[in-house]
Amino acid sequence: MNIRQKEQLVKERLEPLKALMDSCVLCPRECKVNRNKGQKGFCRTANKVKIASWNRHRGEEPFISGTNGSGTIFVSSCTLKCKFCQNFPFSQMDHGIELEPYELAEKYDILAEKRVHNINFVTPTHVVPMLLEAWLLSSDKAKSLPIVYNCSGYESKIVLDLLEGIIDIYLPDIKYADNETALELSSAPNYVENNLRTIKQMHDQTGPIQIDPNTGLATKGLAVRHLVLPNGYAGTEISLSRLKELLGTDVYLSVMCQYFPAYKAHEIPFLDKPLPEEDFFKILDLIEQLGFENALTQDPYDPGGA
Ligand code: SF4
Repeated sequence: MNIRQKEQLVKERLEPLKALMDSCVLCPRECKVNRNKGQKGFCRTANKVKIASWNRHRGEEPFISGTNGSGTIFVSSCTLKCKFCQNFPFSQMDHGIELEPYELAEKYDILAEKRVHNINFVTPTHVVPMLLEAWLLSSDKAKSLPIVYNCSGYESKIVLDLLEGIIDIYLPDIKYADNETALELSSAPNYVENNLRTIKQMHDQTGPIQIDPNTGLATKGLAVRHLVLPNGYAGTEISLSRLKELLGTDVYLSVMCQYFPAYKAHEIPFLDKPLPEEDFFKILDLIEQLGFENALTQDPYDPGGA
């Protein structure tokens, strides 16, 4: 799809996406507040987008960050309330600046001028219409970059239907293996069913990550992220087994072991310290046993990687 075709698609889908905020169902919470008239639901956001930062980010997976970095747009507020969130100043305390669409478009353009490899929407779920409205106003240089949708994996089916053909790369989390823990740690009802449906739908749209052999960069596709929590809170074995059952062993998987306690983590037993080293080695064994062919891990005890 060329830039003009993608532009046309975004134009067609923008109004239906905005209309979902009249009685908001942009995420599975379905708060049904009228965000277009200024009401706010669980995500504490009406119809303006607030951004915490826009950066050239080199810490994403190598096929996303490449050599020049990923153009991350960190959105303020969130549809989850993870008690251990490392981004809590803006995800939970809503720090950031509110931008008009043309101002946000300028940020995309600045990142494109820095020759980042993609425009990476981080936590976009509750503001995706506004992010795309700004995209329409951005330069052709920005528009020519793949759009990355980097999210918690707790998405609405109807929104994903409207994003088909627009989002190039999906990076959803698989956070939990049971709903009780999801509710306790992230206040996310029915996380597991919504998460598996989300991942499947994203995969049906884009397939697995496609990497350009000349650049090593992802051009399209899905990669799933899993943050290993201490004390088995993330249900890593069950989560990864379900992922294997859902998409096979060739799915791109990024297993993050660099957990550190942040935000309210000190209030929860075992979440108040980093992942024990022996747990990290157990995870490496598990990935091998399950036979994942495209798994990345980050060794928290050797920041050079594993
Ligand atoms: S996006 Fe926000 S207001 Fe809309 S359903 Fe989700 S949490 Fe509620």
